[in-house]
Amino acid sequence: MNAEIIAVGSELLLGQIVNSNARFISQQLAGLGINVFFHTVVGDNPDRLKSVIEIAEMRSNLIIFTGGLGPTKDDLTKETIARHLGKNLVMDQEALESIELYFKKGNRIMTENNKKQALVLDDSTILPNHHGMAPGMMIERGNCIYMLLPGPPKEMEPMFLHFGTAALSKQVKIDEKIVSRVLRFFGIGEAALETEIIDLIDRQTNPTIAPLAADGECTLRLTAKHQDLQIAEDMLDEVEGNIKARVGQFLYGYDNTSLVAELMQVLKEKELTISAAESLTGGLFQQELTSVPGVSSVLKGGVVCYTNEVKKNVLKVKPETIDTYGVVSQECAKELAENVAALVSTDIGISFTGVAGPAELEGNPVGTVYIGISIKGKQTVVEKLELGGSREANRSRSVKYGCYYLLKQLQESQKA
Ligand code: ATP
Ligand code: MG
Repeated sequence: MNAEIIAVGSELLLGQIVNSNARFISQQLAGLGINVFFHTVVGDNPDRLKSVIEIAEMRSNLIIFTGGLGPTKDDLTKETIARHLGKNLVMDQEALESIELYFKKGNRIMTENNKKQALVLDDSTILPNHHGMAPGMMIERGNCIYMLLPGPPKEMEPMFLHFGTAALSKQVKIDEKIVSRVLRFFGIGEAALETEIIDLIDRQTNPTIAPLAADGECTLRLTAKHQDLQIAEDMLDEVEGNIKARVGQFLYGYDNTSLVAELMQVLKEKELTISAAESLTGGLFQQELTSVPGVSSVLKGGVVCYTNEVKKNVLKVKPETIDTYGVVSQECAKELAENVAALVSTDIGISFTGVAGPAELEGNPVGTVYIGISIKGKQTVVEKLELGGSREANRSRSVKYGCYYLLKQLQESQKA
């Protein structure tokens, strides 16, 4: 069974809303083992809707529509499909009563056009709407199943979960489950990652391996299909094992996690406190950390030390250090990290000093960054980055690298 989702609504084409309905339905269909091969978006226009239906019928045998079931003139999905299939629209008594009740409960006057919402395709299976008025419906013709769902997610989602999937499983033999897992990598580029595992990618059929890069991170989405959910999970474990054997040192987490979230988790587990001295990042590291709930047990505070005066006067970086090595240096990063930990009394001090750009500094090219990591009882480590992107990219990637290096150090000390 190959499915296509047709989202109807000019507001989608105008970019006023995103097509989250397609995402939701796709995720649900994947769980049912139904392939989704196309997402289509079309405006509130009957001719163009008809033409996308004709295209969909040639390549899909389950077509799911969302939107355009409401009472207003621009809601034409049902009318267009009725005409296309040569079906009549008939008043569904139950739907009409539920609409009337809806108005009574809300103490509102029901206008005549609201009755239109209770019109359904003759011979269709009705999908009741418990969160709004317009019912959904499903109808089969030839070797194609048509499912019509309302546009508002808060109506569509429960309708699909409670009635849509049940109606579908009666019609189709759903026998395969699909499970996905996202592996998240940092510190390795997309091309390098792909090169390391290219033979695995080339051999893939089930599970599939799909690489994706964004915001300086790379991910691999592994997807396995099997009738037995446990076997599908085992298949993912096996592929993950093969990938880890090659590039495991860059793997930092799964699915929707982030470097910051992983770091917070480890700091909490180990009951460690942290402070930060931030020059080029200007507080961005602490902003990222504070975006994770429950940060107060971990992050005590820090200093934005953008100028040399603050580095010297507040964070007590030795004037000789700055005179001899400059502020963009390993030595300065080391003192900043150690001194902020002492100033704020934390187990860990992390520092960021470097050249965000656009101009170079002290003869260092844009993107030169030093990250100092001082962990109580351990030798301070300074990592050097050579980034060289835009000012914003250099700042945000510095923060990610800071999280990554600290995470690695904490994980290594765990192993040791
Ligand atoms: P209504 O009875 O509210 O008019 P409807 O079934 O006619 O519902 P539309 O008029 O097409 O649906 O859309 C109503 C609202 O639902 C939109 O303004 C939008 O907020 C939301 N919506 C519609 N389509 C989508 C979509 N594909 N993804 C996310 N939200 C959507
Ligand atoms: Mg509408």
